[in-house]
Amino acid sequence: VSGYAAPSRLDHALEILATAPATILAGGTDFYPARVGRPLTEQVIDISGIGELRGISVTADVIRIGALTRWSEIRDAPLPRICDGLRLAAAEVGGRQVQNAGTIGGNLGNASPAADGVPPLLTLNAAVEVRSQQGVRVVPLAEFVTGYRRVDLHPGEMITAVLIPRGLDDAYSDFRKLGSRRYLVISIVMVAAVVAVDAGKEVVDARFAIGACSPVAQRLRALEGDLTGRRLAELAAIPHRGHLAVLSPIDDVRATADYRLEAALTLIRRVLAEVAP
Ligand SMILES: Cc1cc2nc3c(=O)[nH]c(=O)nc-3n(C[C@H](O)[C@H](O)[C@H](O)COP(=O)(O)OP(=O)(O)OC[C@H]3O[C@@H](n4cnc5c(N)ncnc54)[C@H](O)[C@@H]3O)c2cc1C
Repeated sequence: VSGYAAPSRLDHALEILATAPATILAGGTDFYPARVGRPLTEQVIDISGIGELRGISVTADVIRIGALTRWSEIRDAPLPRICDGLRLAAAEVGGRQVQNAGTIGGNLGNASPAADGVPPLLTLNAAVEVRSQQGVRVVPLAEFVTGYRRVDLHPGEMITAVLIPRGLDDAYSDFRKLGSRRYLVISIVMVAAVVAVDAGKEVVDARFAIGACSPVAQRLRALEGDLTGRRLAELAAIPHRGHLAVLSPIDDVRATADYRLEAALTLIRRVLAEVAP
C-alpha cells in the first residue's frame, strides 16, 4: 500500500493486505475520532466500497451479516425475534448519523469494552468470519475478542462477516443499555439476553451477556445455569450479586465499579420481569 488504497473487490483488498500491514477503514466512526489532532502516518486500506461485504442473508442454518453492514440496516432488518436484542443495540449505537456510517465489522474490529454489538452477539452464539489470501477461518466471537481492544486477527486478515447460527428463532431477546443520559452515550453497563421458554412455561435456554463491566463482555454462565429449567414465576428471585463474579468493572468518570454491578443486576431483573410479566 502506498498511503491510501480503496479497492472495490474483496480479492483485491486481500491482495493488498498480504503485501504490507495496513489499517482497515470501514465507516470511520471509530477510526477518525482516535486520530484527531495528529497527522495520518499509517497505511490505510478503505474497504467501504466493497459491495460484497455489505448486507444480510438468511438461510435455514445461518444468518450472515456482512462486515460492512451498517447499524441502520441491522436496526431495520426483518430478522427473527431472537435477534431483537441485536436490533435494539443497533438502534442505540450513537445517533442516526453514526448508525448510517458505522458497521458491525468495525464495532468488532475496534473491540471496545463498551462496544454495544458484542453482548447481543454473544447471546446469539455468533462467530466471526475472517479471510486472508490463505483462506477463511470462523472464530467464535467469545474467542475472537481476546482482551481490551485486542482481537484474534493475523497479519493479512480482515473480518468479512458475522455468522449467527439459526435455532430458537422465536426466543425472547432483549438489550438494555444504561448511560448517563438516554441517547448518544457510552454505556456504563449493558445487558443482552436470550430466553427460550417451552409450552409448560419452563426456561429451556437462558443466555445473558454483560458489557462495559470487564475488558471483554462476558456471558453469565452461572446465572444461565440457575435459570434453566425454572418456571417463569420463579425467575425474578434468582439473580444475585454472586452471578456477577466473572465481571471486573472499573471506577471511572462515568460510574463506580459498585454502581456498575448494582446496575447490571437491576437490568437483569428488568429483563426477567419482561420475560415473565
Ligand atoms: C459520536 C459517536 C457515537 C458512538 N456511539 C457508540 C455507541 O453508542 N455504541 C458503540 O458500540 N459504538 C459507538 N461508537 C463507535 C462506532 O460508531 C462503532 O464502534 C462502529 O460500529 C464502528 O464501525 P466503523 O465501520 O465506523 O469502524 P471504523 O472506524 O472504520 O473501524 C474501527 C476499527 O475496526 C477496524 N476494522 C473495521 N472494519 C474491519 C474489518 N472488516 N476487519 C478488520 N478490522 C476492521 C479498523 O481498522 C478500526 O481499528 C460511536 C462513535 C461515534 C463517533
